[in-house]
Amino acid sequence: MGKLDGRVVIVTGAARGQGEQEARLFAAEGARVVVADVLDDQGETVAKEIGPGAATYVHLDVGEEADWTAAVTAAKDAFGTIDGLVNNAGILRFNELTATPLDEFQQVVRVNQVGAFLGIKTVAPEIEAAGGGSIVSTASYTGLTGMAYVGAYAATKHAIIGLTRVAALELAPKGIRVNAVCPGAIDTAMSNPAQLDPEADVARSGEALDRFYRKLVPLGRAGRPEEVARLALFLTAEEDSAYITGQPFVIDGGWLAGVSVL
Ligand code: NAD
Repeated sequence: MGKLDGRVVIVTGAARGQGEQEARLFAAEGARVVVADVLDDQGETVAKEIGPGAATYVHLDVGEEADWTAAVTAAKDAFGTIDGLVNNAGILRFNELTATPLDEFQQVVRVNQVGAFLGIKTVAPEIEAAGGGSIVSTASYTGLTGMAYVGAYAATKHAIIGLTRVAALELAPKGIRVNAVCPGAIDTAMSNPAQLDPEADVARSGEALDRFYRKLVPLGRAGRPEEVARLALFLTAEEDSAYITGQPFVIDGGWLAGVSVL
């Protein structure tokens, strides 16, 4: 028996990285999964590999309310109901706050913050209609602490934790649990852009990152997207987390634990 047998879960940003691993793991645990992204070719491939009947792909720009409405319709057409959501889609931009153009700040807010808001707003009524379920949003360790040069990103990740707490309070009577995951450095295209560039010296850049994380992270490495997927699974599975709602869960190899003097 899978931990998500009978469940139907929308995972945003599921064409690659953590979202992809969440979609694959949830399907392996018995869920039917809606793979949602703006990277249509990659998303279609992920859904196809998971298998027809177990996954379907929808084009969903999380900042567009009309896309959410269409995605919900497509999910219900494919699987009849929806009782889970992982608000995973996100973008990162590096800039000093005083040098950040307004457009760039708003672009990050639109995807990370408005996207999570629209996801909760659109999908929660469907989950309620299905008899209850769960929402997991991907914040970040920068949702709990500051980090220089990612001001827009950190602001949106703090906002996701606020949204999570409010949604948990408002949706508990409707049988919906709402939690957030707060990953540290995870080895995906976002933190290691060399993964996307075939011309880049991926091996060297990987080595440099490895050295960096060995120094910085108590557990001595970046996290793997599958490890975050396991936490999202825990927070989605009723049998594991039925009494947990409104909480941010840090998964960062100990980075936020404190300052090491060695
Ligand atoms: P990633 O860049 O590989 O994946 C992000 C996914 O989101 C991509 O598939 C992308 O196409 C999708 N996306 C971007 N804009 C979108 C939009 N408007 N609508 C729908 N989909 C969109 O990186 P990842 O590490 O897998 O990121 C997943 C989540 O984890 C993000 O919310 C990110 O902020 C968060 N996070 C990542 C790290 C890290 O170190 N990688 C750390 C903390 C938090």
